Amino acid sequence: MSESTPRIVIIGAGHAGGTVAALLRQYGHTGDIVLVGEELIGPYQRPPLSKAYLKGDVDAETLKLKPDEFYADHGITLRLGTSAEAIDRTARRVALKGGGSLDYDLLILATGSANRKITLPSAHAHDLHELRSVADAEQLKSVLEHGKRLAIVGGGYIGLEAAASARALGADAVILELAPRVLARVACEELSTFFQDYHRAKGVKIVTGAQVLDLEHGPDGHVSGVRLADGSQEACDVVLVGVGAMACSQLAADAGLDCANGVVVDSSARTSDPSIFAIGDVAWRPMPLYDDRMHRLESVPNALEQAKQVACAIVGRPQPAPETPWFWSDQYDLKLQIAGVPFDADQRLIRGSVADAKFAIFHLQGDRILAVEAVNAPAEFMAGRLMIGQKRPVDRRKLTDMSVSMKEVALA
Ligand code: FAD
Repeated sequence: MSESTPRIVIIGAGHAGGTVAALLRQYGHTGDIVLVGEELIGPYQRPPLSKAYLKGDVDAETLKLKPDEFYADHGITLRLGTSAEAIDRTARRVALKGGGSLDYDLLILATGSANRKITLPSAHAHDLHELRSVADAEQLKSVLEHGKRLAIVGGGYIGLEAAASARALGADAVILELAPRVLARVACEELSTFFQDYHRAKGVKIVTGAQVLDLEHGPDGHVSGVRLADGSQEACDVVLVGVGAMACSQLAADAGLDCANGVVVDSSARTSDPSIFAIGDVAWRPMPLYDDRMHRLESVPNALEQAKQVACAIVGRPQPAPETPWFWSDQYDLKLQIAGVPFDADQRLIRGSVADAKFAIFHLQGDRILAVEAVNAPAEFMAGRLMIGQKRPVDRRKLTDMSVSMKEVALA
């Protein structure tokens, strides 16, 4: 290999893969870049799939990270509809499904995550919708219309967003959640309660402690309902499964790379093989703001941050400063923004008005803010994110006093 122009192969043409390819060129990498993606569409944003795209407010073209010609114009070889099957680390070669291979000097794994599946005895493959790709969203859109009833298995962010989109389309929605509350794995109790109440007020039925046993089919063979373990049934026309995702790390594990809940990487996204990086949803990464605790993040900002880390590492730029992780969700007229991760938080403080759907929940450890969940509260989100990054102590009294501006709280 030529040290100055290594040949780079990126597996996974999603948000992280597309971003790192573009950044490498932007930072002056002149060697070959091959971007391999199993979908038929170039890198695109997934967040709108459960929101604006599902509601029909935007089309597939607007989801794309870059126009199609960008890749050829920048000397990036885009191999769509192509799946990487195995990595030979000794030969530095990626075998492609259906034959062929790609040699690399440096390899970037950006394979993302895959939805968890459920199996129900009488369900046919086409009975259970999911949301991960444009193709999934297209299928769901084609059957979700005014007057239909959508049953959503799983009350996570994607399920809640899909319920809000269904209501916007004039469809009914029921959320079937196994845990005692929606968002149980990803939000605190107060936030779960708020979202449950809000969805119910919008006409969504929420059943918690709901164990889905099987589907019911009508005489025409179409889905007519969902059967639960307590013997009850929920009538529906369409079923969406949103029960979480797992890192697509099998390729890496088969190649002998260190894997945990994803591919283990260091703070420049390098794996246990110095020639291989892993970024985005697939990475099990250190969290510098939390004593390098290892974590896996499924969010666009994380994909962007790690893409930047790798591009800098490859072209020899200094590593970017660590970012405070963040995430957002849009439901109805609610904009939820979350910064930080509440590992080991010992207290929660609420600022603002839950009743008015304008508030923020701060997660603290002692007098340090670890995370903030902000609903229609951009100032609280912005200041919270800043304070998490700075690890500065906060005045708790001022934090909950609405007469003190967030700017003042952050500067105190
Ligand atoms: P992806 O963008 O998923 O890309 C991975 C790509 O790799 C896929 O195209 C996959 O087909 C391909 N691939 C996998 N294996 C192979 C292989 N062997 N060979 C070739 N290609 C392969 N995040 C937010 O921050 N805010 C949101 O509101 C939000 N909403 C979301 C809504 C939905 C419906 C979904 C599905 C996700 C949402 N996310 C959101 C998460 C966000 O989209 C992901 O965190 C982000 O896309 C991660 O980027 P990635 O490149 O790691 O993975």
